[in-house]
Formats: sequence, structure tokens, C-alpha cells
Amino acid sequence: MAQTRNNQRQGDMEPLIKNTMNENATVNSDTLDTDIAIIGGGMVGAAQAALLAQTNPQWRITLLETFPMPEGKPSFQPSFDDRSTAIAQGSVQLLQQLGIWSQLQQHGTPIDQVHVSDKGHLGGALIDRREHHVDALGYVVPNAWIGRVLIAHLHQLANVDIVAPATVEQLQPQASGARLQLRRGERSLTLTTQLAIIADGAQSPLRESLGIDCQLQSYEQTAIIANIGLDQSHKGVAYERFTDQGPMALLPLGGSLQGQTSALVWTQPKAEAETILALSDEQFLQQLQQRFGYRLGRFVSVGKRDSYPLSLSVAKEQIRSSLVVMGNAAHFLHPVAGQGFNLALRDCAALATSLMEKGDSALGALPRLNRYMELQRLDQQATIHFSDQLTKLFSTASLPQAALRALGFVGLECVPPAKHWFTRQTMGAGGRQQVLNPVGGH
Ligand SMILES: Cc1cc2nc3c(=O)[nH]c(=O)nc-3n(C[C@H](O)[C@H](O)[C@H](O)COP(=O)(O)OP(=O)(O)OC[C@H]3O[C@@H](n4cnc5c(N)ncnc54)[C@H](O)[C@@H]3O)c2cc1C
Repeated sequence: MAQTRNNQRQGDMEPLIKNTMNENATVNSDTLDTDIAIIGGGMVGAAQAALLAQTNPQWRITLLETFPMPEGKPSFQPSFDDRSTAIAQGSVQLLQQLGIWSQLQQHGTPIDQVHVSDKGHLGGALIDRREHHVDALGYVVPNAWIGRVLIAHLHQLANVDIVAPATVEQLQPQASGARLQLRRGERSLTLTTQLAIIADGAQSPLRESLGIDCQLQSYEQTAIIANIGLDQSHKGVAYERFTDQGPMALLPLGGSLQGQTSALVWTQPKAEAETILALSDEQFLQQLQQRFGYRLGRFVSVGKRDSYPLSLSVAKEQIRSSLVVMGNAAHFLHPVAGQGFNLALRDCAALATSLMEKGDSALGALPRLNRYMELQRLDQQATIHFSDQLTKLFSTASLPQAALRALGFVGLECVPPAKHWFTRQTMGAGGRQQVLNPVGGH
């Protein structure tokens, strides 16, 4: 059955529509019906589909994505680009429960230690996995690989339909459920659903079209990302270095502690970032070396550079009747502490758990969705506050804050509870742990 369905998915429009014929779906030529529609097949939408499919096998889940999502080939949508993601321990547990961690780990590099330092101040804080009795503080996995594994997994799930490429042009809430207008090539389709999950990224035109505002704060910073070749092994050490221009992170890559590549996230004020992006590779490496120092030896090569404007954006509403806003569309964070995807994954697990709870109410009924917000509110607040404060405290040359951050490092090293709290937050254990409790298997 799964094989037939997979073959159908690789075909064109007609087989794909037939694919949704099941007891929960009624189909005519231009109308589809599903239980849960997820708009956006990026890291978060795809993970949400997998978590819902696993915890609630009786539901039909339809994932809608503008870009193609082929099985077994790289996907070129925005989430699965040249970045790498630091996956915290808490997220590893969730991905293990999904049954995809062993594959993700094939290209995952364990983080043995995190070294936090401040340019202009000696020393720094060292967080070591051994102190916390874990195999790794987290893992760094290339986004492209996360995409490959997630998409391949979704293609195996009998209750997930991938409709891609297809763009949702309109979302209309109904008395119960929602109606979506999709564009797929020349064709326009209608999809009705009990619950619509908007995971269409930070700009989220659909969220905007529903009049859901965001609290928006630009950091006036740009993150430059690139893979950096080293003349020695990184030994599994992740570096977080704070400078008065903004934080930079170098995360170990290459699949082993002996790897000689690190993933750079270099935050700069907007204007400086443009100058840096325009440098030759040689000049870029020189500037980076000057800013970072020689803790990782000499930087010998740089891969493709990309840039991301940074802001803090938090949706003022994340739930309405039959509607949930997820991922970057719900909260877009500064990447300094590697929290965005990890938080979103905990959100996805909490939603799957809330929807699983027994009750007579419809899937998109507000009491169920309120339960989700109750589960995640504190975690979201704490995580957003943590990454925002870290960014502000560590991106300034102003005297009081510079003094405070020097004290902060002393505090981090000398006060075990402070270091423990920082570590728990970066390991993704700051929020309530989510345990999936599937009601059936595959
Ligand atoms: C430089 C950088 C480094 C980061 N590092 C980390 C890290 O180390 N750890 C961590 O936890 N997080 C990290 N993050 C955060 C992480 O990348 C985000 O949390 C994650 O990408 C959010 O994914 P998303 O699916 O919500 O949004 P997106 O990645 O924007 O995906 C949205 C998807 O929706 C699709 N779409 C949009 N509109 C429509 C429509 N109308 N119809 C159909 N499809 C549509 C798009 O094509 C896209 O595929 C980092 C972020 C940045 C910028």
C-alpha cells in the first residue's frame, strides 16, 4: 500500500488527487478534503506532519508546499538550504521517537563542549558534556540532510499526503474548519479541513491576511553563514563568541569529532555585513580570523556565503478556532543560541499531544488548541526571552552592559546554578519535556 502511494506521489496532479481518496477524504476534480492541512513544508511544517501522523494515525494530514518535495533527492525550498542546525538533546529525544534520529545522525556532528567567550575579555565559560552525563550536548546537522530525511520519512507515512508544488493563496475560516484556495500550476483547487496549521515562514502572508499582527523588533543585524575549512580538527567544540558588533558561532561539522569544517553564523550590523559579503574569500577569512582568533587554528577555506536579516517577531495570536500558527510564522528568533527550530519542535510535539487527548470536540475546537497553548506558553516565553536577552547583552559596546556581560561570564563560571541554567536552556531542556505517546503504530 505504502509503495503504491509513494509511486503515485511522484506522478503529476491527477494521481496526487486520487491519493487522497480514503474514508476521511472526499474528492471531486477540484476539491479536496482533509482532517489537518499544514501550509508550508519547511523544517517545521514537515516535522509537524510527521509528529501528527505518528501520534494520530487515524487522521488524514495534507502538507502543502510551494516548492517540489521529491523523495530521495535534495529539496530546494528555503528551510533546507546551506545552513546547519544545532539540534539540542531535547529535540534528539523527539526525533528518536519519530524513528528518524539514526538517519539524521549519519551526518550529525556531536557537540562535546561549548566554549562561550567575549572578545576583549579573557577566559570564558566551558560547558562540557561529561559534567552533564550525556553523550553529546547536541548535534549539528546540515539543513539539506534534515530535509532529505524528513521528506523521505513523510513519503512513507500512509496518512500523509504531500501536495507539492502547490501554493496556498487564500485561507478562509469557516463555522467549523477552514477552506483553502490552492494554486498548482494552471489549476486552482479548494481544500477543506478541520484544522489549518500555518507554517509558511517568518513573513507569513497567510497570517497577515487573517489580520494576525506580530510584535516585531529588528535587531538591525544580518547573519552571514558559510562553512569554514580548518587546518586542524574542531574536536567537537562549538564556539559562541560575543563581540561588540554581534555574536558569532562556529559549530562543528563533518560527522565526527575529527572533522575539519565548522559552520559559521556571523552576526554583523547590516551595513558591515554587506561589506563583508562583498569581500574576496581570502579577505573574508582574514577578517574572520581577526575577529575570532586562533582557538580553532587557521581558517583555510570558505564555502558559499548566505545572509539572513535578523529580527524578533512574535505573533500576537497563535491559535484561533480551527487555526494554529507554527514555526517562524509564530516566533522568529535570533539564531545566536540555536533555539528557533528546537523550540518549534517542542511546540509541534505539544500540539500533537494536545490533539491526541480524548474528547468529543472537533479537531480544531478552541478548548483543544487552548490546551496546546497552556502546554507551551512558559517554554515559549522563557526561550524567546533567553535568546533576546543574550543577543542584546552581547551585542553592545555600551559600558554598563559590557560590564554586566563580563560579570555574566564570571557568574556563569563561578555560580554553578547559573551555568546549569544556561546549559539546560542551550540543550533544549529548559522547557517542559515533551514525550510523544502514540496511540498506534505504522
Ligand atoms: C542563520 C540561521 C541559523 C539558525 N540556526 C538554528 C539552530 O542552530 N538551531 C535551531 O534550533 N534553529 C536555528 N535557526 C532557526 C530555524 O532555521 C527556524 O526555526 C526554521 O527554519 C523555521 O522553519 P519554518 O518551517 O517555520 O519556516 P521556513 O523555513 O521559512 O519554511 C516555510 C516554508 O513554507 C513554504 N511556504 C510559504 N508560503 C507558502 C504558501 N502560501 N503555500 C505553500 N507553501 C508555502 C515555503 O516555501 C517554505 O518551505 C536558525 C535560523 C537562521 C536564520
